[in-house]
Amino acid sequence: MADLYIDLVAPNGHSYKQPTGLFINNEFVPSTGQKITSIDPATDKPIATVHAASSEDVNRAVNAAKAALVYPSWKLLPPTDRGQMMAKLADLMEQNRELFATIDAWDNGKPYHVALNEDLTEAITTIRYYSGWADKTFGQTISTTPEKFAYTIRQPVGVVGQIIPWNYPLSMATWKLGPALACGNTVVLKPAEQTPLSALVFANLIKEAGFPPGVVNIVNEYGKEAGAALAEHPLVDKIAFTGSTMTAREIMKKAAGTLKNITLETGGKSPLLVFPDADMEQAVKWSHFGIMSNQGQICTATSRIFVHKDILEQFLVQFKQAIDSTSKIGDQWDESTFQGPQVTRAQYDRILSYIEMAKADGAVVVSGGGKHTPAESKNKDGYFIEPTVFTGTPDSSRIAREEVFGPVVVILPFSDEEDAIRRANDTTYGLGAAVFTRDLTRAHRVAAEIESGMVWINSSQDCDPRIPFGGVKQSGIGRELGEAGLEAYSQVKAVHVNLGSML
Ligand code: ADP
Repeated sequence: MADLYIDLVAPNGHSYKQPTGLFINNEFVPSTGQKITSIDPATDKPIATVHAASSEDVNRAVNAAKAALVYPSWKLLPPTDRGQMMAKLADLMEQNRELFATIDAWDNGKPYHVALNEDLTEAITTIRYYSGWADKTFGQTISTTPEKFAYTIRQPVGVVGQIIPWNYPLSMATWKLGPALACGNTVVLKPAEQTPLSALVFANLIKEAGFPPGVVNIVNEYGKEAGAALAEHPLVDKIAFTGSTMTAREIMKKAAGTLKNITLETGGKSPLLVFPDADMEQAVKWSHFGIMSNQGQICTATSRIFVHKDILEQFLVQFKQAIDSTSKIGDQWDESTFQGPQVTRAQYDRILSYIEMAKADGAVVVSGGGKHTPAESKNKDGYFIEPTVFTGTPDSSRIAREEVFGPVVVILPFSDEEDAIRRANDTTYGLGAAVFTRDLTRAHRVAAEIESGMVWINSSQDCDPRIPFGGVKQSGIGRELGEAGLEAYSQVKAVHVNLGSML
């Protein structure tokens, strides 16, 4: 059908065929629902319009995933073959690295060089890493009495609904698909409506890599219908979600109807502590990166910085210098761009309203504090915001407590270690945390005391497919990545064997 593919030429000259349909049973099909138009955040101009799934379409996708699960070609496929398919998928991604970087930069607004070198490296490594796990998950034998013994087998959870966000479109898809496929599940993946494009191109590679029809299905939609339909669907065994805490609550409620297994990765207001003995240059470098990279649109962004009171003034001066020398704002295609536009007008408006609210509440602006007007006229309608630093606001202020999801940071003084830890933990969130000190004992003591799923010592935002990722408190449930990520996608079955006839 004509409108299931369109020819596109990206601003960097890359031309390609963009699928626009729903990907069900290894084919692109039209939806019975509405459409989504994706917008270039640097120019406010439309890129492409794609099909959005209705709940009826979701039902089709779930049924395809269910059928694929029981169909011998997937269930009985030796795990080594499954791993080889995944390795082939990683190779195909590598061959299309520039294309994917182009699409995600265009759709999301992130600098092309970041998408190419960081996002794509992470996405490809994640699929490759989990391809190796496919034939390395197994059960145990357990001795009990002479008459009995038992063994366990590790089996897939079943049909998995995966709902992902827009900040790392392709990487987030691979974080979810990697462990799910390695463990032998089938999937219905719902990309975010803000960035629907790269997942559909990725779908082509799923087919090319040899995955049987129905193993991976991809349906775009705004969330309220298809996302909700997935969470409620009786044939979906598990929901894996990354996004806002508010949406996670909705999903948890819907998933409760059929007692679905869930993993949730949600919001954060991650603290970063700078002790007086820290290497100041390193602390400034990483804390700047920890909030300003990816336009501040990172769930683990270290957006609350606590600096020892004796060095606060110096830290603020150096942080502002780091912004002035590093945070070059521009569109996705300029090699020197550090910070691109925010993903959508809605996010842009939301961040600006947080900035205005903080100012009205009396927070002191150290740097930035408003929208950025780009030099080039083609970008005049883009969603650019100045990197913004606030200080002089109480811990109780909304700007110090709520997740802004933009290039906005609050930097506040602390008096001693106890004060720093108490205030770092005074939040409903618990995703990441960072500590800067040269004192080894203190570094590990603070790392243990902070309520979070991850701690960086003398760094911020390190993330690796081999290392578990996830939150505590209202930042999430369960872990992704690493060996821990397999737990979320497999279940243990116990088999009892009776060897005797005495009992
Ligand atoms: P953000 O506020 O960062 O856009 P969301 O939590 O709204 O984050 O979105 C993350 C993902 O959740 C997206 O794929 C979105 O479409 C989906 N989503 C939004 N609302 C719902 C919902 N009620 N049920 C299921 N999924 C939803």
